[in-house]
Amino acid sequence: MTATTSNHTAVLQAQDRAHVFHPSTHMRQHAAGEMPNRIIRGGKGIHIEDTEGKRTLDAFAGLYCVNVGYGRTEIADAIHEQASQLAYYHTYVGHGNEPVIKLSERIIAKAPAGMSRVYYGMSGSDANETQIKLVWYYNNVLGRPEKKKIISRWRGYHGSGIMTGSLTGLELFHNAFDLPRAPILHTLAPHYYWGGEAGESEAEFSKRCAAELEKMILAEGPETVAAFIGEPVLGTGGIVPPPEGYWDEIQKVLARHDVLLIADEVVTAFGRTGAYFGSDKYGISPDLITIAKGVTSAYLPLSGVIVGDKVWRVLEQGSDKLGPIGHGWTYSAHPVCAAAANANLDIVDGENLTGNAAEVGAYLQSRLHETFDDHPMVGQVRGVGLLAALEFVADRGAKRRFDPNLKVGPQVSAACLAGGMIARAMPQGDILGFAPPLIITKAEVDQVVEITAKAVDQVADQLA
Ligand code: PLP
Repeated sequence: MTATTSNHTAVLQAQDRAHVFHPSTHMRQHAAGEMPNRIIRGGKGIHIEDTEGKRTLDAFAGLYCVNVGYGRTEIADAIHEQASQLAYYHTYVGHGNEPVIKLSERIIAKAPAGMSRVYYGMSGSDANETQIKLVWYYNNVLGRPEKKKIISRWRGYHGSGIMTGSLTGLELFHNAFDLPRAPILHTLAPHYYWGGEAGESEAEFSKRCAAELEKMILAEGPETVAAFIGEPVLGTGGIVPPPEGYWDEIQKVLARHDVLLIADEVVTAFGRTGAYFGSDKYGISPDLITIAKGVTSAYLPLSGVIVGDKVWRVLEQGSDKLGPIGHGWTYSAHPVCAAAANANLDIVDGENLTGNAAEVGAYLQSRLHETFDDHPMVGQVRGVGLLAALEFVADRGAKRRFDPNLKVGPQVSAACLAGGMIARAMPQGDILGFAPPLIITKAEVDQVVEITAKAVDQVADQLA
């Protein structure tokens, strides 16, 4: 408790430290009260408010999920109405409910070509867990029991379950958890800034990524490799748009070896890149798609696996051979979550937030470039739509990283917070990430850039 913290907040903080186990948090420091412990009580538009009444501009939309912004009563009303009408009934053995039928129809209508059905979960992690099971089931039904390995990328983020934490290519999520587990393999991260070799063009780097992937498939034996999973734009691994030609090259390799493609669109679906799906933006034709976050803007938890025709046909054959599929969650296709999703997508579509992400996103990218391209501490400004990042380096010419102990990324993030704005220090490097709600305006983008510029200069001065 600081001298200015109210008694109400101090009591909540003490209770929080005593009883709540927080994700991605230094557990001892939190319990000991050695780190910030902000209690959030409200939100409106692109701002959140804590129990001290302090408003903060949330330039990361929670965890890139509150796409329609905070305090949308249309969604709250839809939740209330549906919970009053039918709070729950399961969707096992063919039971349906109206909101989920409507939601599935609209998702399939707007998804990339060839999509067929949606299976629902509660989180991106559980949806990717379903993906792995479906891919295994698919190959078993096809009589290829050896074809089970799944390849993801270093720096990819696909969740933090046992198999999905294994898919994730960030060491932080493996350490001391005995992950990754077989049969998950990791290939090159499509990060040209760090991965490109001297004299290598972006397109050449993409070809090398594809060649490395093919080498891995051939070394393992194509008859053992079932699927490749990737985010259209690397997210938690640093917000890195794909290098030129990357997805074309990767898809050629996958087609040659009959390897399924799972597009993890947990962050990119529903407008964030300026296209409705990231797959559309980059010419990706996935067999399976993972969605979560933006489908409800996190007003309630909901995720989904969109299954393409090719896989669906085999799943149907599977039921004829094996009986009903032995996979299901109690809360699959929850009617209240689906009602929240429909109300959310009404806003996304009605306010053309995909178009706003394209237009205001382009403005954000150009403002970040004009402000930081020549900054001595910024090695790269990158992004697409309303996803952006600054990568900080000690030496731009030599591309030398800062000593990780200096925690430059977290320092800049803390300085932004002191300036009244949340931008996220990403875990793999000194990277500051931006993913504001898709309702953000150009004037608000100006504010974001101004606060960031002050924070970066302040940290640069301290380091000098
Ligand atoms: N996939 C991607 C691309 C993500 O960014 C995330 C979470 O950030 C996940 C999966 C996991 O989602 P969840 O945290 O809901 O389990």
